Amino acid sequence: MLETFRLLIASVSRIFSASTWPDSIFDLSPEQSVALSLLGIAIGAAIVEVLMAATGYLVLLVWVAGDARARGMDGSFFWMAFVACTLFGGLLIYLMVRPAGNVVPCSTCENKRLEVSALCPHCAHA
Ligand SMILES: [Zn+2]
Repeated sequence: MLETFRLLIASVSRIFSASTWPDSIFDLSPEQSVALSLLGIAIGAAIVEVLMAATGYLVLLVWVAGDARARGMDGSFFWMAFVACTLFGGLLIYLMVRPAGNVVPCSTCENKRLEVSALCPHCAHA
């Protein structure tokens, strides 16, 4: 258990660019040093991937909610939740059923609205 913990700390130290620490403070063999470097890179890459995926997921959901609102769709929150649960399948369905047309800034309130819509969904201005 203590051995595992020591190797884990040594590995994590490499993720956070503490590779300048000498291996001697962790009492590592050269083989362990190489293995832990690779493990550290893998863990670091996994953390970056998870953060990027989570960020992309949130950006996508915020975009869907804003796009649905700009197009005057009822229940923009529903669409956001739908895409949140179904991911790319749901996104595809959303892109197919949303009202088509260019989204442009409203001349009155500056929020985005469909170019062809009769009334702005934000300020109800024509
Ligand atoms: Zn408006």
